[in-house]
Order: sequence, then C-alpha cells, then structure tokens
Amino acid sequence: MAVNGTREWTDPTTCPFCGDQLSSPGVGFVDHIDDSGSCEQEFDHWRENVAGDLAGEWSG
Ligand SMILES: [Zn+2]
Repeated sequence: MAVNGTREWTDPTTCPFCGDQLSSPGVGFVDHIDDSGSCEQEFDHWRENVAGDLAGEWSG
C-alpha cells in the first residue's frame, strides 16, 4: 500500500508529468527533469508525498 495516494506511473519510457518521450527508462527521466524545471518541481512534490509514506526512505 506504499503507493497509495501517489500518481500512477504507467509507462517508464515517458515522463509521467508532461508525457514527453524519454531517451531511456530511469536514466532518461533524470536527464529529462534536468532539462525541464517544471517537471523537476513536480517530481520533487511527488517524492515528498512518497517520503511521507515511507518515513524518510528517500532522504539524502
Ligand atoms: Zn516532463
């Protein structure tokens, strides 16, 4: 139930925030949020939600 309340990420080859195609799953997303400030903010938001559920699992 850890993903409860978080956005569902259905396709790892596209950005879940703007729908852009990523150059590769995972690493491509890191590159993408590096390029796209708005998506990076969305991701930070999302990660904070996840961190709230996991109690610090993502800290660092
Ligand atoms: Zn994006």
